[in-house]
Order: sequence, then C-alpha cells, then structure tokens
Amino acid sequence: MPWLMENWGNPSSAYGMGRSARRAIEEAREQVAKLVGAGPEQVVFTSGATEASNSAIHSAIFNQPHKRHIVTSAVEHSAVLNYCKYLGRYHPVEVTRLPVSTSGLLDLAQLVDSIREDTAMVSLMWGNNETGVVWPIPEITEICRDKQTLFHTDAVQAVGKLPVSVQEAGVDYLSLSGHKFGGPKGVGALILKNTDTFLPMLHGGKQENGRRGGTENVAAIAGLGVAAEIAARIQPDNWAVIEKLRDHLENRVLGLHAGAIVNGSQSERLPNTSNIYLPGIDADALVTMLDQRGICISSGSACMESAITPSHVILAMSGSYDRANESIRISLGLETTEQEISDFVEALSESIDLLS
Ligand code: PLP
Repeated sequence: MPWLMENWGNPSSAYGMGRSARRAIEEAREQVAKLVGAGPEQVVFTSGATEASNSAIHSAIFNQPHKRHIVTSAVEHSAVLNYCKYLGRYHPVEVTRLPVSTSGLLDLAQLVDSIREDTAMVSLMWGNNETGVVWPIPEITEICRDKQTLFHTDAVQAVGKLPVSVQEAGVDYLSLSGHKFGGPKGVGALILKNTDTFLPMLHGGKQENGRRGGTENVAAIAGLGVAAEIAARIQPDNWAVIEKLRDHLENRVLGLHAGAIVNGSQSERLPNTSNIYLPGIDADALVTMLDQRGICISSGSACMESAITPSHVILAMSGSYDRANESIRISLGLETTEQEISDFVEALSESIDLLS
C-alpha cells in the first residue's frame, strides 16, 4: 500500500520519491533472489510467470538462430505450451511434447533421445499445477548439460513449497509467480543462471538493467518481495503438516466414492495439491455445486477454465476423456485446518450423492 498511496514516485526518476521506489525494487530483488538461491543480478521482474516463461523460450530461440527445436512436455502450463504453439505456427520452429506415464512422470531416456543438435531449449516444469507431481530437476539439468542444451523450468508451483535453489539445481532459467506463494497477482520473475543468455522480449526503456522495457509495477514488486521473505522463513515442517492433512483428505474422499483414484499418487508430489478422479461424476458440475457452498476447487487449470475443455494434464496421463472430465483438483494452503477438511468432505459427499 505505501507504494500506491504515499510513495508513488517513478523508480527511474532522480527525485527522492523515485529513489525510494527504486530502493523498494532492489530490496524485493534481494528477497526474491534469496528465496530461490540466486544473486539479485539474476532476477528479472516480469508481469507474471507467463511472461517469464515466454521470455525464457524467446531468448533461447532468438539468441540461437541455428537451433530451431524445442523440447517440452504434454502437461506444461499453457504459459509454455501456447508460446511453443505460437512459435511452431509463426516461425520455423519444431516442438516436441514429451508424453507422461499414468503416474505423471517423464521417461528420462525418452528425454535424452528427443534432444537434437538443433534443440535450442528444454522446458519442463518443476511441479505440476494440476496434480502436484514433481519432476527430478537436477537429473534433467544434468541431461541438458550433457547435451549442451539450455534448460528452463517453470517452477511456479514449487517455489515457496519446496526448497528451490537455482544455484544447486543448475537450471539456466526459472520462472516464478507472486500469487502462488502469497504475493500479488500480475507479478513474477525470471531467474537467469547466466545473464548473457537473456534476450529481452519487451523493448523500450532501460528498466530491469535493459532486460525489460516499461515502468516497473513498484507496489506489486514490493509485495512479491515481502511474500518471498515470508516464504523463505517457512520450514519444510510446516508443509509436512499440510501434506498429512492432504493425505487425510484423500483417504476420506477415496472412501466416499467407489472407484475413486488419486491422480499421480504414485509419484513424488507437492505437499498441498490433490487431484482426484471420481468416476461418473462431472467435475464441472461438482465445482459449481461446491462453489455455491463457498468451497473453491477446480476441474483443471484456472487458465484453461474458460475453454471448458477437459484437463490436458489428466488426458495426457490417462488417455481418457472421461477421466479428464471427472477429476477434481483441490489445493490446500498453509492455513488449511482439519475442520475445513471435514467440512469439505461432508459437502463433497452430499454433492456426489446429488450427482450420482
Ligand atoms: N505456470 C504454472 C505452473 C502455473 O500454475 C501458472 C499459474 O497458474 C502459470 C505458469 C502462469 O502464471 P501467471 O498467472 O503469473 O502468468
């Protein structure tokens, strides 16, 4: 609020109010860098993870004109999938979308085989937003390093929930988004391992060290910084409590409906995410009924919601439209209580009865 109400100076201006806005941005840069084990000079603030991921892929493709191939997966967020689709349509760029197993895992041997001499970048997510399935990022980094290919990871769902270190993981680019760990919407960052591998996508003023033109959204960036500082103080133990609550919720839901299955349960997962297949129950109808009771769950990715298409993630895992249409996604937060889980299960049970 202070950056909206009182200290609304332009951070590129020389006057005092501008200088304090600049300091707020630089403080946020340090806070974000610290959360992800990077240096402040590696952080480029963006309008969110969509821009961060688009910028990473844009850099790899337009900085290496002799490389015209991208490897990604079938279960990425639309921020990656649709930018790749755009490149494939309007540029001579070929895209390989790796499939996943029924557990939501990649076949790493297939990843190795898919990387070619002209592969500009591999872009694979750290944790899946719909199922929570986590991929072995250090191993993938190793593969990309061996093949001398740049590696970008969409770590939106992992940052703030798992220990994420850009330095340890060795990834070339990492995207994060403020609203996934308590910050404002409409702000995020791209973290660069090597600043030479970045090619700006937005051209204008010299903001962000010449990496992104346009006056910075100071209030959102300051909010992102504060969220990062708080997230860095949260211990894995805090999330372990939520993981137990999540497992408890899943056990209760599995007991409610014959044939229910937790999608991705065989794999390592984020502690707060659950995706459950309820055979014969229309997920969109369930979402609407629960919403009427003040409960917010979803049937796929929020970014896909308006399209009323079945979840591309569950479709890629199962090959079944029915399963994709009959799976719900539930996210817990650090504040979720046992009572809320009980209330949810009761409401879910009643709604399933009505829809059966
Ligand atoms: N990637 C993943 C995995 C996400 O869950 C999201 C947001 O839902 C995004 C990217 C897009 O982030 P933003 O809305 O900040 O552009």
